[in-house]
Amino acid sequence: MTINLLGLTRDELTGFFDKLGEKPFRAKQVMKWIHQMGVSDFSIMTDVAKQLREKLSEIASISVPTLLSEQVSLDGTKKWLLQLTPGNAIETVFIPEDDRGTLCVSSQVGCALACTFCSTGRQGFNRNLTTAEIIGQIWWAYKALGKNPKGERVISNVVLMGMGEPLLNYDAVVNTLSLLLDDHAYGLSRRRVTLSTSGVIPALMRLQEQMPVALAVSLHAPNDELRDILVPINQKYPLKQLMQACQSYVSAGPRDFITFEYVMLRDVNDSDEHARQLIGLVKDIPCKFNLIPFNPFPDSGYEASTGERIRRFKSQLIEHGFIVTVRKTRGDDIDAACGQLAGKVIDKSRRHEKFSGM
Ligand code: SAH
Ligand code: SF4
Repeated sequence: MTINLLGLTRDELTGFFDKLGEKPFRAKQVMKWIHQMGVSDFSIMTDVAKQLREKLSEIASISVPTLLSEQVSLDGTKKWLLQLTPGNAIETVFIPEDDRGTLCVSSQVGCALACTFCSTGRQGFNRNLTTAEIIGQIWWAYKALGKNPKGERVISNVVLMGMGEPLLNYDAVVNTLSLLLDDHAYGLSRRRVTLSTSGVIPALMRLQEQMPVALAVSLHAPNDELRDILVPINQKYPLKQLMQACQSYVSAGPRDFITFEYVMLRDVNDSDEHARQLIGLVKDIPCKFNLIPFNPFPDSGYEASTGERIRRFKSQLIEHGFIVTVRKTRGDDIDAACGQLAGKVIDKSRRHEKFSGM
């Protein structure tokens, strides 16, 4: 078995070269080839001595996922389907906007948390992605999109908001973040990398210590009774604790606010009373709201709130001084909108095992 260098952090790669009797700068060199130049073949790394290149091709590899398909939406959103291992594939989405380009990556195949309005959650859980598999999505997208005419990278922001709960794949996600922030790899600032979580509090507290990036929290309900149903992890980590954790995170995070995501479900969580409760719930937390129109999928059992209802909900929050954005639905013609990512999941039988182990 050769070792895959794609998913190694700078420290790990430095350790790898150290064992070969090579200096630490080799790690920086090779990282640049892999992550900045999009190279997956050692023979092209011309500033690495030929002997070392030959050695590397014997003992190591740069194994990227296989591209199965690329789809482009009418609005410019792109979606790639990447094959990991036979039978398992994941989706990665690029969303171009006027002032930025955001890549949305997946952290797990499926998800164990079973939020009732989420298509990924409905599929069940198959397995965690490795660091190489998460970085592999970014590697592909950087390579496919390259730079704009000004010489800037087309991808300016990365969000961990695709399939899966990133904080339940903690080590691989933190290693991915470390590569995203590393100047010798993707060199993004902590403000341009956002992790979205449904609220796995102990892992969130570790993240705060180790690698605080911008944070989005999937709230979706203003009280425990409703959140217990919509976001079942709430039964384990209820709102009061979640609010305390968010308050604590703000002090370490690169932004001075948390983004609360709130999916707008018709007649479920979108009334005036829900808005009032929400205002009370978050009153002590520096935050912004991102209201997400529900993206339907077959047999979801939910409907999207009306545009009028969303406007009313939004204005109630704004009246109380909150900054509120309504997420534009992007890429729904190619099933790339939030909550529509499906990928391909075989063996969906492990949800219970994973959920009970938390
Ligand atoms: N597991 C993480 C990140 C992935 S989900 C989390 O839950 O935050 C990314 C976002 O999409 C979450 O806010 C999630 O609640 C939202 N989402 C899931 N299904 C959706 C749907 N059908 N319509 C709109 N948003 C959805
Ligand atoms: Fe998992 Fe997030 Fe979907 Fe919930 S919303 S099931 S945590 S991916």
